Amino acid sequence: MTRPTRALLNWSHLRHNYDIARSHADGKAYAVIKANGYGHGLVNCARALGSADGFAVACVDEAVTLREAGIQRPVLVLQGAYDAQEWQQAAELNLQLALHHEQQLADRAAAKLAQPVAVWLKINSGMNRLGFRPAQAPAIIERIQQDSGLQLQMVMSHFSSADEWQSPALAAQLELLASQPWPVPASFSNSAGLFTEKIWAGQPVTDAISRPGIMLYGSSPLNYRSAAELGLKAVMTLQSQLISTHSVPAGERVGYGGDWQAARDTRVGVVAIGYGDGYPRHAPSGTPVLVDGVECPLIGRVAMDMITVDITDHPAAQIGSPVELWGEHLSVDRIAALCGTISYELFCQLTPRVKRVAS
Ligand code: PLP
Repeated sequence: MTRPTRALLNWSHLRHNYDIARSHADGKAYAVIKANGYGHGLVNCARALGSADGFAVACVDEAVTLREAGIQRPVLVLQGAYDAQEWQQAAELNLQLALHHEQQLADRAAAKLAQPVAVWLKINSGMNRLGFRPAQAPAIIERIQQDSGLQLQMVMSHFSSADEWQSPALAAQLELLASQPWPVPASFSNSAGLFTEKIWAGQPVTDAISRPGIMLYGSSPLNYRSAAELGLKAVMTLQSQLISTHSVPAGERVGYGGDWQAARDTRVGVVAIGYGDGYPRHAPSGTPVLVDGVECPLIGRVAMDMITVDITDHPAAQIGSPVELWGEHLSVDRIAALCGTISYELFCQLTPRVKRVAS
């Protein structure tokens, strides 16, 4: 029997979530599918969202993979040092590049471009990670406009606290962006921004192209609203099976280090998933796992290939019982919170051993 651990992917849910993002957008929405589609599969996500306004990826390599797979929609590359070869690839493959450092312009000068490259000027409005400060923008815009190999398409910025609608940091970024007379349309919002921007009390900013990521996969971008409340549906359901069951008398310990001690005679189920698959090693005892749809708590430490669960209160559980770790019936956001992390990390750290299968 093959290992039963797999990620079932519901592509109609991806489209459903994209439509929700699009309905909140002021204009268009580029689906952010970087990092292998947040672990869901780069090309498959792009194919499933075949009529999206465009896609955003993290690096030129990811964009090249999309073009090689026949994806013709607009593709924006969000970051990179872009050497001369990447500039040339961008021109040949009709990619859009985020421009966030002067060095990129120096490297562009060394490249012979087959056609002009569309650039998105990234403004550092307070995140202090990538981008030009607003005061630098006029000079950079002039340089772009004087360069026949470049076409200024958008101004973009990224929020540091888009999920906290009362955050002074978000208000300060919005205020700064709203106060500038940008010569081209602008792109500001990630998933959370699509919701929080609208309830900002100041002068509204308009997103010509927003950039939703996490919400497309069915995870809530807001810690005060669940995915279900936002109408989002889980795309990935991480599944496995019980591969063993046994009983442990009260007082005995289970797993590495013997961290967990049975307070009662306990029936233990062993699930074929571990941190070697990307299930978080730091998931604490008590983290819910669905066995045949019944919530059973994780017990003991997560190992490389296995976890153990308490199935005492689920007597029907047996070898072969289906297990859901997160997905359609168990919110990934709930698991992430229990593990002290975010759904992004859980999705991205799934290893290649987990087969991705369309549901
Ligand atoms: N825009 C940029 C520049 C990003 O880096 C990201 C993700 O990190 C996104 C948009 C999408 O963000 P989210 O997944 O929170 O919607």
